[in-house]
Amino acid sequence: MSGKNLVIIGLLFYFFLALNFRYKSNSISVTFLNVGQGDAAIFNLGNLGYMLIDGGTDLSVDYSILSFMTYPVCKIRFFYISHFHADHTKNLPSLITRCSKSFATFNDVSGYSFSKTTFAGLFSKNMFLNLPPDFFKDVQSGQMFSHTILGRPNLQIYILWPPEDVSKIKNENDRSLIMLFNFGTYEILFTGDASGEIIDSVLTPAVLKLIDGSLEVYKVPHHGSITGRSQAILDKLHPLHCVISVGANKFGHPSPQVIGDLEGIGCRVHITSEEGNVEFTL
Ligand SMILES: [Zn+2]
Repeated sequence: MSGKNLVIIGLLFYFFLALNFRYKSNSISVTFLNVGQGDAAIFNLGNLGYMLIDGGTDLSVDYSILSFMTYPVCKIRFFYISHFHADHTKNLPSLITRCSKSFATFNDVSGYSFSKTTFAGLFSKNMFLNLPPDFFKDVQSGQMFSHTILGRPNLQIYILWPPEDVSKIKNENDRSLIMLFNFGTYEILFTGDASGEIIDSVLTPAVLKLIDGSLEVYKVPHHGSITGRSQAILDKLHPLHCVISVGANKFGHPSPQVIGDLEGIGCRVHITSEEGNVEFTL
């Protein structure tokens, strides 16, 4: 083979590697982790690192993220916490202190709810000392967070719930952050453990306008409980994929009626206890 051909082959190989790297670095995905009876979903945001939505109940989250990063390295920069029940938060303090971090949000940073106090109690004093002073941010409906990802549309996170005065809501499940993730024409609705009536109330015409075409992924609220059944989802949104994050439990989750209703509108239902991790490429 001539030297010229070798150079051409070398250049082609280089461009293949560069393209492959570019593809990988721009590849955005979300994985709903199989963490038993609880919620945890991880976003791979390419150059921006990782984002975690809720943190499950035990070390199964640490175990699950091993397929994304090698222990003890942790590249999770953003934490969004739906609410303070143990099945969404119990394992978060150790993860937050181990990971590189930009911020965490939740529904009652400046309030004094019992659940927040319980969550704070999971941190030792030393753990708090290592966090940036403004690490925890209060969020409320009407806010929008934008994350810039190289070479891709911005990831926009619209906070739809709860309202400013969260203390008036007595049921912790109903304090759950409801968030619409908008990534170009790809949308995902996170609902925590909120009840169906609240989901109905936040899906206003203005919010529905943010959804181009169809809702690609719907995180079914409250582990598929009947309390999370939303008529607006069935009548107006017709999501393509419905994810139920659930494990062994004594509550009867997920409800056969919820599954039947979602399948009835053509949604493909994914149940973590049956499928394991459920991943979508955005
Ligand atoms: Zn829950």
